[in-house]
Amino acid sequence: MTGEHSAVWQEAGRRLADWFDENMRDLPWRRTRDPYAIWVSEVMLQQTRVEAVIDYYARFMDAFPTVQALAAAPLDRVNLLWQGLGYYRRAALLHKGAQYICTECGGEFPQTAALLRKVPGIGDYTAGAVAGFAFGEEVPAVDGNVLRVISRLFGIGENVDLPAVRSRFAEIARGMIPPGRVWSHNQALMELGALVCIPGNPRCLLCPVADLCVARARGDSESLPVRNAKKKPKIIDRTVYIVTDGRHVLLHRRPEEGMLAGLWEFPGWPDADSPEGIDPDTLPCDILSRDEVFQAQHVFTHRVWEMQGVHIRVDAMCPGELPEGFIWVEREDMASYALPSAMRAFTAYVQAMPADGTALAGEGMQP
Ligand code: SF4
Repeated sequence: MTGEHSAVWQEAGRRLADWFDENMRDLPWRRTRDPYAIWVSEVMLQQTRVEAVIDYYARFMDAFPTVQALAAAPLDRVNLLWQGLGYYRRAALLHKGAQYICTECGGEFPQTAALLRKVPGIGDYTAGAVAGFAFGEEVPAVDGNVLRVISRLFGIGENVDLPAVRSRFAEIARGMIPPGRVWSHNQALMELGALVCIPGNPRCLLCPVADLCVARARGDSESLPVRNAKKKPKIIDRTVYIVTDGRHVLLHRRPEEGMLAGLWEFPGWPDADSPEGIDPDTLPCDILSRDEVFQAQHVFTHRVWEMQGVHIRVDAMCPGELPEGFIWVEREDMASYALPSAMRAFTAYVQAMPADGTALAGEGMQP
């Protein structure tokens, strides 16, 4: 870093911290220095809007107020409290991380970014956020918002998806931290990216560092940051079976590792995302009818599920004879099971189904 660079970084960092202190939004996780609470909030906020997180955070902290409470909870319960927030891998990793802290660290939260990095599921960003916000360690926390702000503010057109470029951005963010003000500064960079230096058209008129901003002066803010071209999502065709005797419905619990870990779903024919699917003809029940009902689509980050619902009416449930991971659930108890948003249309269909278990037809077929 040259002296000239360092002076600009520090001026920008000081101004951002001042701006944040005067303008910060009052959010529940900003009222605490508890590392566990900060960790939960940071994980929830990844790829999720602040407004959507507030209620989830309150419910989660009520249910699991300490890292010990989270570690001791079954994954099913954690998933239930996460239901609807999406990116369920975060919940599974949070749970695993809590167990690591309780077993490997004696229940004491690691207090530096370097030690936090050893916890399963905690990456550079989260380690920096928790170490800075809870313990005042003067380390950067670089998320997507911060990458965007730094690339525009300093006019850096290098690809931020490259590890070497990310390291450079982290060094710049570190060089911006005003001594003793890591909390305000790191919050400020993220807040500026979330509210002012937004993707697409930034609100430069509201920006406290507008006169220092290289991209604004050049007029190329909208082209920054430079990132890898997005890959086309993979299309997965799935069959989703609603197997029911009217009162019960068949559910499948996904494995505890991998996509949508430990969540429940309506079973499907085996496919790339659910190799443990099922052939309904192998179920120990008499099939009374089989109807293709509606189609639904769910878009994940890297894949799209194109789902065909098939309603299978059986004469009665067959307890004790199902393959591992499959269970019968009373329709009215469905709310006790965490199903991913991808299943939402099928859940609505099951709730609307007639009591005798016949398929919904016509208008009612498409929930
Ligand atoms: Fe972003 Fe505009 Fe501020 Fe530059 S001046 S950092 S482009 S909001």
